[in-house]
Amino acid sequence: MASITLNNIVKKYDDGFPAVNNVSLDIADGEFVILVGPSGCGKSTLLRMIVGLEDITSGELQIDGHRMNEAAPRDRNLAMVFQNYALYPHLTVYENIAFPLRLAKDKNGDGSGGVGQGSVDERVQKAAALLELTEHLDRKPANLSGGQRQRVAMGRAIVREADAFLFDEPLSNLDAKLRGQMRSEISQLQRRLGVTSVYVTHDQTEAMTLGDRVAVLKKGILQQVASPRELYEQP
Ligand code: ADP
Ligand code: ADP
Repeated sequence: MASITLNNIVKKYDDGFPAVNNVSLDIADGEFVILVGPSGCGKSTLLRMIVGLEDITSGELQIDGHRMNEAAPRDRNLAMVFQNYALYPHLTVYENIAFPLRLAKDKNGDGSGGVGQGSVDERVQKAAALLELTEHLDRKPANLSGGQRQRVAMGRAIVREADAFLFDEPLSNLDAKLRGQMRSEISQLQRRLGVTSVYVTHDQTEAMTLGDRVAVLKKGILQQVASPRELYEQP
């Protein structure tokens, strides 16, 4: 787990217009922050800068107090959870969840990578139990319900024992009923794991119910950061 600090973060794309304009935000260890705002306000850009998929034009990103602007994505130890699951159709649930760990092993080239076989299995089984996927480990994604697929995607983030989860509108492809169900699952899971989370959404119900704090972004500028209660229950 880790704290994430944004200090005067700016992102300018080639057109020179700031997509993210001087954003400062302290996200505490274990905190669940929701990032809301209209389409094009810079939510994805901000998330992608945190995870390292986009360069930061100016300002500083710190993870646990260490400057991370120049760190490669895999050295940041953050896990991104996408809306379209990004599961491998030819792999089983087990193999899909284990995938990030196998990848880490291959990178070291020695077949160990500090993650022994026993511990891969342990981590996958633990994540599966947490997500109630134990009975489905041998299935392929095509044979799962939408909610189960979403949980497999989260399993991948969990086995990596990432310092933080970054969610990019993870539920936007699901129907209303499943979205409600997954909303409460994500909320419970986040609290059980206590892992620092940043969650991008344009769904007001998600913003009101999921997080400890809501950050409102408009045209790249952070307008307001408040608890859901302060934000939505004002007279
Ligand atoms: P959101 O996630 O809130 O919808 P984005 O972060 O995707 O917003 O986009 C913020 C602004 O940056 C928009 O004006 C968008 O057009 C612009 N933008 C996003 N990605 C790029 C890119 N790769 N090149 C140029 N402009 C971009
Ligand atoms: P949910 O209420 O989660 O949407 P479903 O009705 O999709 O559940 O599925 C009920 C159970 O049947 C689940 O445990 C799921 O794993 C299993 N299941 C669904 N579709 C298939 C399939 N094509 N092949 C095998 N098992 C399936």
